Amino acid sequence: MNIRMTTSAPSVLNTVAALRRQVAGWRRAGETVALVPTMGALHPGHLSLARLAMDRADRCIVSIFVNPTQFGPGEDFGSYPRSLEADIAQLRDIGVDAVFTPDATQMYPQGFATTIALKGPAEAGLEDKFRPTHFSGVATVVAKLLIQCMPDLAVFGEKDFQQLAVIRRLTADLDLPTTIFGAPTLREADGLAMSSRNVYLSPEERRVAPLLRETLGGTADVIAAGRDPGAAIERACEAIEQGGFKLDYLEFRDAASLGPAVRGQAARLLVAARIGRTRLIDNVAVSYGGGNEP
Ligand code: AMP
Repeated sequence: MNIRMTTSAPSVLNTVAALRRQVAGWRRAGETVALVPTMGALHPGHLSLARLAMDRADRCIVSIFVNPTQFGPGEDFGSYPRSLEADIAQLRDIGVDAVFTPDATQMYPQGFATTIALKGPAEAGLEDKFRPTHFSGVATVVAKLLIQCMPDLAVFGEKDFQQLAVIRRLTADLDLPTTIFGAPTLREADGLAMSSRNVYLSPEERRVAPLLRETLGGTADVIAAGRDPGAAIERACEAIEQGGFKLDYLEFRDAASLGPAVRGQAARLLVAARIGRTRLIDNVAVSYGGGNEP
């Protein structure tokens, strides 16, 4: 573990050139570098990723970029919460070394014409079914960030479980020299997964929102006890809809391939549901016939 004795302000880097200069300096000093990509509006879940990065590398960069290409038409790009100063203050408090905050013209200059086309986990029929252009935008921006920074490691949350699978695949397929770490989901005291989008919830919606996690957890227990997953999932769908959600999906999948769950292998229950104007996603591990997380 790297103990950081000071909490001096992180360097705030706005350009790819400045990022590369900073990383090159650290590399000359023989230091390892970690990257934590985010869209800002930071909460303790994001900070837990940065802490994990700081435990595993000498230097930690957090990127903050609300990436327009991963939002579909009619989604919340315009209203996505932005709080750069408060974000930087939180990152200073935990001792992050640098914050990379490019603007859209740095990332997508005039004439930008290249995107990454995906198969495999990006076609699992989960988020991709409801947000058909989302992962192409995510993959393009993450590939750019990894190439710009060339970190030894990068940390992503299991909260976005399909995204983590897509990024693992992308990094392997493009021979990017970065180790990808998945970090557990941080939750509020009542079980709701922390998310920048939770601020959209009205007080009444916030009250019922933990139902998603509760239902996933209960269903995981029933399956782990050896009961029929199909029937358990049917009951879970009903409970979520009765709670006032509109369900996009609730799926029981193999944790590695995101294909159908296989008895004896690590499995995952994944959900996406809308309440009011807010779309929430969550997922939990399931012990299915003895299959546990690797
Ligand atoms: P975002 O800013 O929402 O794009 O998220 C940036 C990173 O933080 C992604 O790798 C997310 O999976 C991760 N993340 C978001 N919410 C949580 C959470 N509650 N716990 C842990 N990681 C999270």
